[in-house]
Parts: sequence; structure tokens; C-alpha cells
Amino acid sequence: MSISLSHLTKRYGSNVVVDDVSVEIPEGSLTAVLGPSGSGKSTLLKLISGLETLDQGRVVIEGDDVTNVDPRHRDIGFCFQHYAPFRHMTVSRNIAFGLRVRKQPRDVIAAKVAELLALVKLENKANAYPAQLSGGERQRMALARALAIEPRVLLLDEPFGALDALVRTELRQWVKELHQQIKVTTVLVTHDQGEAMEVADQLLIMHQGRIEQDGHPTDIYERPATEFVQGFLGPTTIFKGSAVRPHALELEGPGAGAIEGAVTSIVELGFEVQVTVLLSDGSMPWVQLSRNEYAALGVGVGSRISIRERD
Ligand code: ADP
Ligand code: MG
Repeated sequence: MSISLSHLTKRYGSNVVVDDVSVEIPEGSLTAVLGPSGSGKSTLLKLISGLETLDQGRVVIEGDDVTNVDPRHRDIGFCFQHYAPFRHMTVSRNIAFGLRVRKQPRDVIAAKVAELLALVKLENKANAYPAQLSGGERQRMALARALAIEPRVLLLDEPFGALDALVRTELRQWVKELHQQIKVTTVLVTHDQGEAMEVADQLLIMHQGRIEQDGHPTDIYERPATEFVQGFLGPTTIFKGSAVRPHALELEGPGAGAIEGAVTSIVELGFEVQVTVLLSDGSMPWVQLSRNEYAALGVGVGSRISIRERD
């Protein structure tokens, strides 16, 4: 395991912000820490990096116990949402900063910066100043700066949070590809379910300072361990008294031997169609269908219909 956390605990006054967290983060993975605002995600990242002190627990990186090691000597690259570049330095000099601090030879630095500029596709901005970059370019520069020291671990705290939706979607695809190229163990904090599901190969769901569930995104989505995880990760609807995924239900014409009801509303959202059905017990589950499934069904508001769980 690349990062091994055991019994991490952090309190601010009487507020337990990270509560006895133990988890293993696999080598080379892109792990997303997903949870609502205030659940302790940023604090967890700060505990890994050493920017915050622990009340209890141990942090082990690639077998080295770094619990009492200064953040500068943990071999960690960071990138945060409100990354503050050095305004008076060019993009190249910003990226080179960590290497200059480490007193690397000039030619080594130049070669490394050129490589990183190509990696983050900023070759043509090498001599620009941060103020001349777009938001997305600035975050790419921040990533290059974090990667310059060849960290053992890369920690990203909502790195795209301040960008608009379109740029954000582009960047998350790009980060995924970048990670496939360089394979550095990466922990990405986000409160955005879509972002986490799309990018990560490993997911930690955080809630009130605890890890509620960890595992592969699809497994967690299909088999949520708690009600919180189920509700947080995606839409649910109540069918026969329990919460299920709306795509786990299907509709057929009346008399199919399943539970019957009447269609009360139909919402077409491009590829997806949401059909709400009123059942005789008064419950109103909704079902997520593809447009083709919906078209094949041939129903409208008021139609009688049968509903059941898909096999
Ligand atoms: P997240 O990143 O998931 O939104 P944070 O880790 O930033 O959550 O914060 C978790 C909780 O800890 C919040 O209730 C927050 O107010 C509190 N907190 C964070 N940092 C401090 C601090 N330096 N002093 C006191 N309380 C803090
Ligand atoms: Mg945060």
C-alpha cells in the first residue's frame, strides 16, 4: 500500500473533525475522497501532508512512518483550489520553484521544466506570467509545480472547484489521462459525485469525519453500505418500502404480473426519461429509462402500467 492511515483523529476544541480513520490507499491509484462540505475531507488531506498535526494515529507512506516528519520532507505534491502562484515569476520559474529550493543543477531543472510543460500542455506559455493564464491553465501550472519534485504522493484538494463547469469537465478528463501516464499515487478531494465517479479508480466516502465506505466506485454505487452512501452517491426512489436506484426498476404494459399503477409524470432529459408511477398503496416510485426503452413502452400520463425490479 502506498498510503496507510491508522486511527487518524483530529479535533478542533470539542469538535471531532476526523474521527478514527483507518484506510489503505493503493500504490498508483487515483483515489477520490468524496463527501459533503464539512465532512473533514480537507482536514484528512492536511493530516496526510503534515500541514495539520494529529491528535492520534499514524501516517505511513510507502512503508515509511512519516507521522512525525516535517511536511517538507514527506515527498508529497499538493495542489489546492485556491492555488496562489508567484505573480512576479513566469510559468517556467513557478514550475521550477521546488527544484530550485532543492538546489538542483541548472540543466537538470531546465530539462525537468521542459518535460513538465509538455506534460501539462503549456509549452507555449513558458514565459507568460500567471495573470496571463486562464483559470484552467493556472491549475495545470499548479499541477506541474506539484509534480516537479517527483513526489511519492500527489494530493489534490478540489483543484477545479473554482473553475466553470465546462473547463472543469475538460480538466478532470485530462487529470485522468495524466494519471494513466505518470501513475503517481493521487488522492483527489471533491464534493462532486460525478467528478469522483468519472475520475477515480478507488473511492472513499466521507461523512462526519468518518470513512463510511471505501472501494471501487461502481461497487459502492451498486452496493452502498449505508443509507448515507446510497443517498449521497446518486438518485434513489422508494419501491416496496425500500430505497432503490431508479434505473434498477423497469416498466411493462399492464397485466404483466408485477405491481400495477398509473403514470403520473414523464420528464424527458435527452437520453434519459424519468417516469413517475402512482401505486395503489399511495407510493410514487420513479423509474429511469433510456429513450429507446421509453419509446418502446408507448405510454403517456394516465396510462396503466406494471412496475418491478429488473433482474
Ligand atoms: P471539508 O473539506 O470536507 O469541507 P474540512 O476538513 O474543511 O471539511 O472541515 C471539517 C470541519 O472542521 C468543519 O466543521 C470545519 O468548520 C472544521 N474546521 C476545519 N478547519 C478548522 C480549523 N482550523 N479550526 C477549527 N475548525 C476547523
Ligand atoms: Mg474542503
